[in-house]
Amino acid sequence: MNADTDSFHKAVLPPIAATIASLREQVQKARQAGRTIGFVPTMGALHDGHASLIEAAKSARTFCVVSIYVNPTQFAPNEDLAAYPRTMDADRAKCGRAGAELIFAPADSEMYPLGEQTRVKPGILADRMCGLFRPGHFEGVCTVVAKLLNIVQPDIAFFGQKDAQQALIIQKMVDDLRIPVLIQVCPIVREADGLAMSSRNAYLSPEERRQALCLNHALTLGRDRLLAGEKDMQSITSSMRDEICRVVHFHGGTVSIDYVEINDAVTLVPRDAPFGRMLLAGAVRIGKTRLIDNMIVDV
Ligand code: AMP
Repeated sequence: MNADTDSFHKAVLPPIAATIASLREQVQKARQAGRTIGFVPTMGALHDGHASLIEAAKSARTFCVVSIYVNPTQFAPNEDLAAYPRTMDADRAKCGRAGAELIFAPADSEMYPLGEQTRVKPGILADRMCGLFRPGHFEGVCTVVAKLLNIVQPDIAFFGQKDAQQALIIQKMVDDLRIPVLIQVCPIVREADGLAMSSRNAYLSPEERRQALCLNHALTLGRDRLLAGEKDMQSITSSMRDEICRVVHFHGGTVSIDYVEINDAVTLVPRDAPFGRMLLAGAVRIGKTRLIDNMIVDV
């Protein structure tokens, strides 16, 4: 590597703050320099979906802080906390390329100091969809996001539509707790064949990767039937379930469906007839990997 490329690579690697004190110091410097603060919370193992949030923060001309923290309180004891991919060096390079200016990568003791007790408990939005299959998950998410927003104090925080239910719950939390931050929700970034990008896609074997397309196929089918004017919601969701099984079986696998639903896109209440803005959403388990995806349909 010659001196030029070496300095280029150094230039795009954002500094890492491991403590709240160091993070606050650097954010304060940016504020004093007249910058607004953008914030992208992540659990790392970054892909182009995460990069799109960083790019949105950059387009909004903010000083973009990315947190990389695998939050233990949002994993149930039987879930993949220990196995969750951790790829800090690659993440740092990706943050730099996308335009992040600071990484916050705290230790557990920084986020959950000895003796801590307090949790942020969401309301009924968290009782549906993923909330039914991952008890306590959204309480863990709200708790860590509230802590991170208090620590970073951003002007704008960027979340992905990929986790549609999470984005609605966070918006509600911010409204209810009067947290002074704008929440911007960014579109789902997909692989060329339509699979929604996810850090958990790294768990998939080549056969499972082909089977994983079932969710996108089913959502597309549901969307097309709604847009074609079909009114029977039960028939639509059952054809979506059939499509999931068809794709997975075609590629030689088995699948367990957590849910496939067509809900109001804001309240998440199930629709018994098509109208307004709807969220088509599903969660499936392929092998040991749980995948989620969704689409918005307006009729
Ligand atoms: P995670 O690291 O999975 O906790 O995700 C961090 C943020 O990235 C969340 O706001 C996610 O919704 C968002 N995100 C994850 N995957 C995608 C994707 N494929 N497209 C857009 N945003 C995403």
